[in-house]
Amino acid sequence: MPTLTTPYERAMAFIRSSFDRLKLSEKERDFLGMPQKTLKHTVRFKRDNGKEMEVPGYRVQYNNARGPYKGGIRYHPAADIEEVKALAALMAIKTAVVNIPFGGAKGGIQVNPKELSKGELERMSRAYLRLIADDIGADIDVPAPDVNTTPQIMAWMRDEYEKVKGVYAPALITGKPLSYGGSLGRDRATARGGFFILEQLARIEALDFKDLRVAVQGFGNAGSEMAIFLHDAGAQIVAVSDSRGGIHSKVGLDPLRIHKYKAKTGSVRGQYCEGSVCDLERLKLDETELISNEDLLEIDCDVLIPAALDNAITEKNVKNVKAKVILELANGPISPEADAILQKKGVIVIPDVLANAGGVTVSYFEWVQGRSGDYWTAEHVERELKRIMLQAFDDMRSEAKRKGITYREAAFNIAVGRIVEAMRVRGWVG
Ligand code: NAD
Repeated sequence: MPTLTTPYERAMAFIRSSFDRLKLSEKERDFLGMPQKTLKHTVRFKRDNGKEMEVPGYRVQYNNARGPYKGGIRYHPAADIEEVKALAALMAIKTAVVNIPFGGAKGGIQVNPKELSKGELERMSRAYLRLIADDIGADIDVPAPDVNTTPQIMAWMRDEYEKVKGVYAPALITGKPLSYGGSLGRDRATARGGFFILEQLARIEALDFKDLRVAVQGFGNAGSEMAIFLHDAGAQIVAVSDSRGGIHSKVGLDPLRIHKYKAKTGSVRGQYCEGSVCDLERLKLDETELISNEDLLEIDCDVLIPAALDNAITEKNVKNVKAKVILELANGPISPEADAILQKKGVIVIPDVLANAGGVTVSYFEWVQGRSGDYWTAEHVERELKRIMLQAFDDMRSEAKRKGITYREAAFNIAVGRIVEAMRVRGWVG
């Protein structure tokens, strides 16, 4: 297999492999092989110094056969059109895997938001929203947060939309603050959904959480919550990392403590290090060592959870991965080449399109509440999330067993099958 260099090529390699397994017609392959609509804009906003800044802003609407387009908005220097297209395609698959009535989309602004003040961030977010306002809506395309976008940013966007359109639009966008149409449980939903899947896998594989050593790459929203859920369930968190490096301990780490120090110092090494100066005595006392981001992926552990960026496990490092189970909490952390090698090694991979679908599932609950005016309790959200995640896991497992294929292949089969079925009954593909 030639090395797949762009995120879109990697995402499409997974999607296209299901076209053959499902024996799709040429017309169906062509339709699903590209986005339905691609919006490319120049976002202009004022810097605090009065000068104007221009950055590229995208919204890719991949497929809406099963319902309104749905997908987050990412602010990142690497958020180019290829990345946004890949994430939009994966969203279409994800909403179909968990069988919620949405299609798939993604938005992105190619910018480093850490270089912007709060006021600049607000002006940029409102300017982007104005550019896409005619192409989104509760029945058309429902955005949400993604990397570097927050409930506050969703609030600015909903407010801007309501102002320019002169409407009340509680279901326009999800991931909003609780005080402005958000849903209980949305903040932890991605990790909670992934946790339910691991719990079920442990039951099936007769694994006891108390015997599991877990490494988490990326101690952000999703990764830190996941580490806390697993620690509370008795698993041992042996390593965690963030963009500044990682820590490892054979006797186990306390993720709540790490969370506290990261909030204070900005790094998972915060309880031991101030910048590059580290307290070696304390590290020794706690039987903890500093590791690099690359080391984390190769740590001796039972479960590895990539929860940072895409393409973390590739043909370069996959041979050194020791975990027996990998749960993809990030989007696209394993390249197709590495995935094939993991399959040969017998590693169980829970694919991103299911593993991190808890986020979009609770976004769906938020959209339902926004449309109905209803307000769900935290218990109701938890119960419904668990029901949907376990049903999707069960569907994927049955398909994998029936066809003798991997979980990823099964998830893509189910999703592409559901999307094509909707396209057929709508008469889009003859
Ligand atoms: P986040 O920005 O809160 O966290 C990302 C973390 O990864 C940060 O701690 C960052 O320091 C760390 N990181 C960056 N580069 C790293 C590297 N090279 N090595 C180790 N750590 C590194 O983002 P998030 O919301 O937690 O999202 C993480 C991943 O999960 C993304 O791929 C995102 O698309 C996916 N995801 C998130 C959600 C959600 O609801 N938060 C839903 C679905 C998918």
